[in-house]
Amino acid sequence: MEDIKNWFKEFYIHESCWDLDISKKVRSFLNINPIKVSSRPYSNISGNLSGQEFDISKQRLYLTRHEGHFFRKCPGTQGAACCNYFVLNLGQQCNMNCSYCYLQSYINSPLTQIYTNIDEALMELEGISRQFPDAPFRVGTGEVVDSLSLDDLTQTSSLLVNWFSKHPKLTLEFKTKSNNVKNFVNLNHAGNVVVSFSINPEVIVNSEEHRTASLQQRLVAARLCADKGFPVAFHIDPMIYVPDWEMHYTSLVNVLTSMFTPREVKWISVGALRFIPEMKNILRERFGGKTSVLEAELFKSHDGKLRYDQRLRNKMFKHVVDEFKKADLKYPVFLCMESHESWLGTFETSPRKIAGIESFFKPLPTVST
Ligand code: SF4
Repeated sequence: MEDIKNWFKEFYIHESCWDLDISKKVRSFLNINPIKVSSRPYSNISGNLSGQEFDISKQRLYLTRHEGHFFRKCPGTQGAACCNYFVLNLGQQCNMNCSYCYLQSYINSPLTQIYTNIDEALMELEGISRQFPDAPFRVGTGEVVDSLSLDDLTQTSSLLVNWFSKHPKLTLEFKTKSNNVKNFVNLNHAGNVVVSFSINPEVIVNSEEHRTASLQQRLVAARLCADKGFPVAFHIDPMIYVPDWEMHYTSLVNVLTSMFTPREVKWISVGALRFIPEMKNILRERFGGKTSVLEAELFKSHDGKLRYDQRLRNKMFKHVVDEFKKADLKYPVFLCMESHESWLGTFETSPRKIAGIESFFKPLPTVST
């Protein structure tokens, strides 16, 4: 990963946030002078971004308040088994650059935003934990921004670890493709902060996951977290069909199972490449022939997204799951945003009947957001 100090080419702070501690932290960290603004810069640009606008948005930082709810149910996808996940969005856009990133079809703002009113996000969570004191909500901060790659700017991770240590019924997930764990890894915690790493074989990291930490760097960071008592998790997602994919994914599982015992790993989710058809254009524009993502044939699936053929997906998932089973039956592997056909094709049963992960799929109270 490159030095984030020099990453941003433009830096804006909304005037209402200028004197906040978080703004001061970011200002003193970055090697660029901020501009105070009274409204969102580039408000003339909205809707779908071109490839070039999307690229530029990664290097324009805007600190602002978030209006509306922070906490909401993971939208999941139509027809998929729901694992009852919630998200807490503390920003939008990512400084890394994966070819398959769904943000290319999601983001319609030409800026990377970091929200300054984290105190309000925590108040919202506080209210929910009071309303549902026994509900074991799992909350992730890595849906539309990487949980840790910008943490040196804001050091939000330490704030969150401290807050969750006082709310042991809830689980927080930091989800990252960085190896940036230094700001929280030595803190006291309650064992309810799961540090999860999205991983892929090195050959795919090199060709598709630009500006991310290497596979080795991510695994070393995960090992450090586990050594400090943090539960770790892994997302082998999206699996990508490349030549010799079986061999590459076997090596990935082998290295993972040689470094982590099933007891140390809270969950391992597995998913395959998927994106909405409209994303093809921006993907082509930004990565052209330099990506493997468009090489294999993709088909419109039950939820309208393009995916590999169901039989190929079953084969890919079963391959990974079987490799974990060979190492130890207790690795808690599940499928992310996949159809019931994929579950049956991979596990020959439904998620609620699989030991180790069944609790994720039990219904939780409805939270109005
Ligand atoms: S790390 Fe995640 S959010 Fe960032 S570019 Fe890659 S897929 Fe997108």
